[in-house]
Amino acid sequence: MKRPSVRTNPQRQRMVNEQFEILRVRERLLPIKVSTFFKRKVDEEIEQLGHTEGPLHRMVYPTNERLNIRAPGEVPDFVDDRVNMPPDTTGNIIQKYRDRILYMPTSTCVSHCQYCFRQDVLSEPQHSQRSMFIDSVEQLSGYLDTYTDAEEVILSGGDPMTLTAPSLAKIFEVIKAHRHIRSIRIHTKAISYNPQLIIDERKLGLLSSAGVRLVFHLTHPYEICDEVKEAIAKIRQAGIRCYNQFPILRQINDHHVVLLQHLEQLDQLGIRNLSIFVPDPINFSAPFRINLARLIGIIERINWFSPSWINSTRFVMDTRVGKVRREDINEYNLDAGVATFNRDGNSVAYPDFPAELDVPGNLEIMLWRGNVTIV
Ligand code: SF4
Repeated sequence: MKRPSVRTNPQRQRMVNEQFEILRVRERLLPIKVSTFFKRKVDEEIEQLGHTEGPLHRMVYPTNERLNIRAPGEVPDFVDDRVNMPPDTTGNIIQKYRDRILYMPTSTCVSHCQYCFRQDVLSEPQHSQRSMFIDSVEQLSGYLDTYTDAEEVILSGGDPMTLTAPSLAKIFEVIKAHRHIRSIRIHTKAISYNPQLIIDERKLGLLSSAGVRLVFHLTHPYEICDEVKEAIAKIRQAGIRCYNQFPILRQINDHHVVLLQHLEQLDQLGIRNLSIFVPDPINFSAPFRINLARLIGIIERINWFSPSWINSTRFVMDTRVGKVRREDINEYNLDAGVATFNRDGNSVAYPDFPAELDVPGNLEIMLWRGNVTIV
């Protein structure tokens, strides 16, 4: 389906970017930030499509929808991140599960994802100075001293791989000094935005010797170019365990064919995909969300048309009661547009994304390189 007359051309996109700048200052959203490495791919996509509505562009630049569409039930913090920050810490530790803690050593990312669900936290620069980093590591150490039920520390962000090798070394030293921590995990999007930040020899050595599990956030098959493949091979050769997780995003990857192509490519690269996340109903998330009934249809097609090493990936939603799956739906009231999920005796109401706003991605645009086999 081609509708060139209504597509956003690069000239119109400049106006969208300017309007977004006004919105993002007012609403404390993250500014547009795109690494040189990723911009090359975005520019190739614009050249091929002749407009700016391709999947890679949508990841990092705003759209008309982002400026104009809001969905009912949007909130600043659906998962209660702020409620789960321990007292006496300054927003860099989240304790939501008994046995693991989330530590955010930096608020810096290589590029800014438009769909980021932690915009409100990240838009408050906290750890940009060295003294703040030291303070943050001391808080981590103090917290681990007192909270001995924790078995895993998950570094997230911001992007922890933007830290220097000495900073990472300091964090690992602090964690390793706490014998009750058995596992360190790092979540990173740098593999897509600038893989050189990971394959620095010193960082690879540190990750390997600390036994880190590296979880990439690769979201679309076209993020995985030859340079990214080479970086992944190098990371795996260093003996580092690699995983992936990503969100399902409307008009970026919201079709079972895109998801299958992505999951199969990850599998060929030796990367196990852990989860596909359903975007939370946070403020200004409407351009990326999809209706629950349509989501269930996509999940079913993935189950029907792929082998178990592909369809074993979990579709999950992060909520204030923890991660929930389709099997945890207790009630789905189509008229009210609300689904209730239960987890471990706790329930949470999820305001579904309205079907009338749910314009699905066009497969020819999402897979603009062609060779699409529809199953
Ligand atoms: S890399 Fe992660 S933390 Fe940074 S903007 Fe993207 S989603 Fe948000």
